[in-house]
Amino acid sequence: MINTVFESHYIRDFDIVTHAIDTFNTKQKNFTLHTSLNFDIICAMKSNDVNYNINTTRELLKTHDFKHSKSMGQNFLVDVNIPEKIVKMSGVDKSYGVLEIGPGLGALTSILSREAGFVTSVELDKRLVPVLKEIFAEHSNVNIIQGDILKLDIKNLIDNMSGFEYHVCANLPYNITTPAITAFIEAGFFKTITVMIQKEVAKRICAKPGSSEYGAFTVFINYHAVPGILFDVPPECFSPRPKVTSSVVKMEIKGNQISDKNDEKTFFRVVRAAFGQRRKTLVNALYAVFNKTHSKAEITEIIETCGFDTRIRGEMLSIDDFIKVASHF
Ligand code: SAH
Repeated sequence: MINTVFESHYIRDFDIVTHAIDTFNTKQKNFTLHTSLNFDIICAMKSNDVNYNINTTRELLKTHDFKHSKSMGQNFLVDVNIPEKIVKMSGVDKSYGVLEIGPGLGALTSILSREAGFVTSVELDKRLVPVLKEIFAEHSNVNIIQGDILKLDIKNLIDNMSGFEYHVCANLPYNITTPAITAFIEAGFFKTITVMIQKEVAKRICAKPGSSEYGAFTVFINYHAVPGILFDVPPECFSPRPKVTSSVVKMEIKGNQISDKNDEKTFFRVVRAAFGQRRKTLVNALYAVFNKTHSKAEITEIIETCGFDTRIRGEMLSIDDFIKVASHF
């Protein structure tokens, strides 16, 4: 039995080798290394024991001297409990069509595949894509796509998941955290977004008015969603270890609070202005941006009409306060 499994893997591995020659596009001397890494990882991942898979992955990466790409934010999860916890706490079930970004070696993908209806997984690193395709070849509910999530059309990505509810669940590469979350929210398709990100960014997302972490990004997120930190993940859970602690954040998307698109645009102009010059009073910060249409006296009057002290700073305002102020512009 074991022999048959290995033989079939072996035969399939020849396909990958052929494919790998085209895809890896790496130097000759690296070729053997990647090919054997492929083979070992595939055998390890295909065994049904997740514990074995992840621990083995860590060993394999070391043994085969896999060069993690810093610029691609490659910190792979090697603690088996974390992907299980992320998937459980994000609420994934069979009605979910999940968009995952950066599957790496598939630590989270394999749990998502078990629990979700469908998983579309986008990986930038061309070295990893053939490995992932092979690992998930028999998982009919997993679609691996090579590309940069910031350049792909999100609508196209989720089109093959029609019939499911759209959600995001990912261990995000840290260098694209804010543009990626912004793109998911602006796409307007997702019901929830659960992502592992730097703790510092998670704190900014969940910050309260008046705190030093509270800023334009906090307001943007809280205008569109109800965010919450699910749990923290220490550096030891990754290989290689990142320098900072990570947090898993879940954002539940809510309906827009301003129905008119132009009014919404003005709201965000006011928010950006308020945080553009944090040390200025709200009146001065707004005047710096709206001076072509409003005199300083008019802006001062707006702030007073809204019931605020004219010396207040923008960072003290809640979302509702900003909505109130923006309605006068
Ligand atoms: N999810 C895996 C790996 C996380 S590391 C795990 O938890 O173990 C981040 C992953 O994102 C890497 O595999 C990296 O290659 C990939 N990545 C980096 N930038 C990307 C981008 N712009 N689009 C898609 N994937 C990206």
